[in-house]
Amino acid sequence: MQKGAIRVQTENIFPIIKKFLYSDHEIFIRELVSNAVDATQKLKTLVSVGEFKGELGDIAIDVRLDKEKKTITIADHGVGMTAEEVDKYINQVAFSGAEEFLKKYKGQENGTNIIGHFGLGFYSSFMVSSKVEIFSKSWKEDAAAVRWECDGSPEYELEEVSKEDRGTEIVMHINEESEEFLDEGRIRSILEKFCKFLPVPVTFEGNQINNTNPAWTKKPSELTTEDYQNFYKELYPFAEAPLFWIHLNVDYPFSLTGILYFPKINKSYEMQKDKINLYSNQVYVTDEVKDIVPEFLMLLHGVIDSPDIPLNVSRSYLQGDPNVKKINAHITKKVADKLDEIFRNDRKAFEEKWDSIGLFVKYGMMTDDKFMEKANKFLLMEDVDGGKFYTQEEYRVEAAALQTNKEEKLVILYATNPVQQDSYVQAAKNKGYKVVKMETLVDAAFINNIEIKWDKVSFTRVDADIADNLIDKDENATTVLSQEQEGTLKELFGAQVNQPNIKVEMKGLSADAQPVIVTRPELMRRMKDMAAMGGGGGMNWYAGLPDEINMTVNANHPVYVQILKENDNTLQQKQIKNLADLALLSQNLLTGADLTAFVNRSVELMGEKK
Ligand code: ADP
Ligand code: MG
Repeated sequence: MQKGAIRVQTENIFPIIKKFLYSDHEIFIRELVSNAVDATQKLKTLVSVGEFKGELGDIAIDVRLDKEKKTITIADHGVGMTAEEVDKYINQVAFSGAEEFLKKYKGQENGTNIIGHFGLGFYSSFMVSSKVEIFSKSWKEDAAAVRWECDGSPEYELEEVSKEDRGTEIVMHINEESEEFLDEGRIRSILEKFCKFLPVPVTFEGNQINNTNPAWTKKPSELTTEDYQNFYKELYPFAEAPLFWIHLNVDYPFSLTGILYFPKINKSYEMQKDKINLYSNQVYVTDEVKDIVPEFLMLLHGVIDSPDIPLNVSRSYLQGDPNVKKINAHITKKVADKLDEIFRNDRKAFEEKWDSIGLFVKYGMMTDDKFMEKANKFLLMEDVDGGKFYTQEEYRVEAAALQTNKEEKLVILYATNPVQQDSYVQAAKNKGYKVVKMETLVDAAFINNIEIKWDKVSFTRVDADIADNLIDKDENATTVLSQEQEGTLKELFGAQVNQPNIKVEMKGLSADAQPVIVTRPELMRRMKDMAAMGGGGGMNWYAGLPDEINMTVNANHPVYVQILKENDNTLQQKQIKNLADLALLSQNLLTGADLTAFVNRSVELMGEKK
């Protein structure tokens, strides 16, 4: 029997392992099963190059639980290890990287957390074991089987034993604090999490845990639509069918495979993040793919697999890694290309899915300029009437003649609530304007953001001004009233509507436009909307301001000729007040005591009618 001290660069790694790996104990299974997979894959390689000529036999990796002996065993039929190999690969722990790391992060609050993500490979078994045994028999002819044992002190034992079959068995004697792992359910769920798609069969209590051949490892040409949909179901059994997917398949300059699915989004508040799983050679690593996947695509579902991202991921590591940056850029490009392809080849399908796709596209355009460049071609805006979609270019072609303002900017008119803003929408349409829907939360942010990025475009909500003024063209309409009549009317309104936040102006609009029109100036309204959403630092004081309202009196409306003829002064005043209130009411701006007064006054006016 050989006895010796495990050679590490720090004096003793075990206290470090026990102390610092505390957060993520379950990864010991991932580490040991991946070692077993590696050993099996190595053997298969030896078969293919003709070095190993024996029988492969059953190569399944078996995970066994013995509650009585309090052991977990992971057994493979891979290459195994000779005594020399155990000495070389197990007894020499190259720990310099971790030592450096510890020095760097000593005393930092999440230092332990970061180490928790550092796979320590085989030695992670000591997080949960009071003793670990290795039984191994190498594939090499005449190699003697060996047993290695270590109880967590730096001393190990190594001896020859007899072992029938080729391969390695790691026996972990689970320590008292880790007895939670001596539970079938727990083991199974850990295996399902980390080992679900490993390339070598893994069995536990007679059942195979994994699909060794998941869709993303195949060539896109080998897969049918149904295959992609079935794989989605395998990943998310309860989700609705995805809209479409992107199969990633790159080997140079980095290696990346995977399938990203666009989920169907019914309501934007139901969006779920963290639905993309990161794998490294089919070993599950994490579902925290921030930095690898661009922020705006975090709502996608699916799998990405890159051996260039090591198992030992930590946030600080990922941020600085050049491969991660490249992968991120690649995914963005792929998604943009795919959207562009669907848009060009099947515009109808694209439009039908726009409710869901639009969210990604808008979010992407706001956060990623490269994406925006491509998305400018396929961003759609839906007409308020529904069913008709414009790209920016198409809107420009249809609307430029009528909707270019004095600064030569294209004015895109939009409604956030087509039902509530209907009278404004109708007024704008009567002038031949195109009004699009911008109904969602992301739209509000999108408009603010994109207006700055798009050249010569400005967005105006359809109720931001009276239809004649929506496109600021520097024209002035005159009224049919005499100067004297105008003066009287102005006085009447001035007396009836005297609130500092309401600005009354007189305009000569067409006779069939409303007699009084209430609008909220675009800029002020946006500020208040943003403040209400809690955005924009210094903007919060806007939220407390009263609504700033423009009240336009259409002096050309025939009702005023009638009212001005009226001899009864009180009646005249009531009528004017009522017209103003009606306009406020149509914009949901009449509430409380004002609303009550309006109702009472209306009833009175009815009685006074001759
Ligand atoms: P890594 O897997 O990153 O090399 P580990 O600490 O997990 O680090 O394993 C160290 C080495 O021990 C492996 O590279 C391999 O040579 C050997 N080894 C571990 N487990 C097995 C096994 N089940 N069969 C054969 N060799 C193994
Ligand atoms: Mg390993």
